[in-house]
Amino acid sequence: MESKVRVRFAPSPTGPLHIGGVRTALYNYLFARKLGGDFLLRIEDTDQTRFVEGAEQYIIESLNWLGITFDEGVHVGGKHAPYRQSERKHLYRQYADMLIASGDAYYAFDSSEKLDELRKEAEVAKKNFQYDSLTRNNLVNSLTLSADETQAKLDAGEPYVIRFKIPENIDVELDDLIRGHVCVHSTSLDDKVLYKSDCMPTYHLANVVDDYLMEITHVIRGEEWLPSAPLHVLLYEKFGWKNQMPQFAHLPLLLKPDGNGKLSKRDGDRLGFPVFPLQWKDPKTNEISSGYRESGYFPDAVVNILALLGWNPGNNQELLSMDDLINLFSLDKISKAGAKFDLEKSKWFNHQYLINRADQDLAVQLLPLLEAQDIHPSIDKLAKIIGLVKERVQFVKELVPQTIYFFKAPESYNDQVIKKRWKEDTPMHLTQIATIISSVQPFDKNSAHDKVAEYIQSAGLNMGQIMNCLRLSLVGDAMGPDLFEIVELLGTDEVSSRINTSIEKISI
Ligand code: GLU
Repeated sequence: MESKVRVRFAPSPTGPLHIGGVRTALYNYLFARKLGGDFLLRIEDTDQTRFVEGAEQYIIESLNWLGITFDEGVHVGGKHAPYRQSERKHLYRQYADMLIASGDAYYAFDSSEKLDELRKEAEVAKKNFQYDSLTRNNLVNSLTLSADETQAKLDAGEPYVIRFKIPENIDVELDDLIRGHVCVHSTSLDDKVLYKSDCMPTYHLANVVDDYLMEITHVIRGEEWLPSAPLHVLLYEKFGWKNQMPQFAHLPLLLKPDGNGKLSKRDGDRLGFPVFPLQWKDPKTNEISSGYRESGYFPDAVVNILALLGWNPGNNQELLSMDDLINLFSLDKISKAGAKFDLEKSKWFNHQYLINRADQDLAVQLLPLLEAQDIHPSIDKLAKIIGLVKERVQFVKELVPQTIYFFKAPESYNDQVIKKRWKEDTPMHLTQIATIISSVQPFDKNSAHDKVAEYIQSAGLNMGQIMNCLRLSLVGDAMGPDLFEIVELLGTDEVSSRINTSIEKISI
């Protein structure tokens, strides 16, 4: 029997979650949901020097906002709790000891100053220093010291690390579900630190041990972790867990819009779009980075955008709900090539989600923005207006200028339109039109339109010119939906009053 699929998202709380990380979480989620598996949130906080206050909360809030839910994790508990590695600290040492006992790991006592020096020397010689099979024999470790000397150093409390001993001269192979067969020769690998004197494991040890203990079946993570995968494969082997080793799937990078390099944390606000799901305030510098939520993106639009950055359903369908994505998702449709972020396309997605939202829902979201300007419409009326104008916007906040004139007479008039359309006899004609509109009792927008059109024709006027002037009087600009829809919603008294005000205020 196949074991139940179990996948995890394992961020380090070193700052806000980048959208690349969100995409990793999303793909894991889709994979788990599609296959009826479990999805875990594990916080990898073993590197205390990179810990950032508030980052874990930020990660949880972001994923919540997007509707990415977990079966187990730091915030929901589960059978493998705790899910925060700093709280699992006591677990890792025994595994490091197991590898020391089997000769697959060793104590190293070299100071960081000494190692820096060796790195610098190598740099001068245009070489690369690594702690590996070539160098380890000349360094201070339990392979070069006698057992007694090693013990004496340990007893004296000398700082040490435990390093993995990369086997010499072998090919390390893995079959990545996205990248295919990967083969790395062990001489290119260095003896990574597994455990440090501060009694903390490093990422590599904690990650592999936890994936094993938490019964993870698939490791789906960013391509930047591919170079670590051979070491992880070796760790599974040396622990004797080869049969329990998860399958690996390394996701393609998210690239800058021009395709030149990875989309970095700094790029977003520099290039004019958020790279974080939610706004983030750096607790040290107070610097603010923008977020999708605060920029007015809908969470389901963001999910849709991210899902298609590196994966496609194999048909041309672009608008995909979370349920659609779960149904269609498969790892074999993930591309190997990096995916370019496309700002215009992202806005297009938000627009699609906006026009598909119910007018009432949009009205509820828009209301506070209008109330901030002391406008208090009923939700029903606002919903009706939104139905007329929503095709024109990409974000809810853009509905403000598109709806405000239904509640507030214009305070100014677009100069360009005045210059182009407003003639000496315009006030006279608009006054006539106001009277015609008021005479339609009970008001009916079609007959009002026909009567006004009749007047324009009989007076020998240009339809476009005078209609634009009427729009200018009512809206203040050359924008908005069908003019007689506006007239209907304003009511005939307001229409007359706005026409009169515009005649008073506009002079040519
Ligand atoms: N803690 C790692 C990160 O921050 C996890 C990588 C992995 O999924 O193995 O991305």
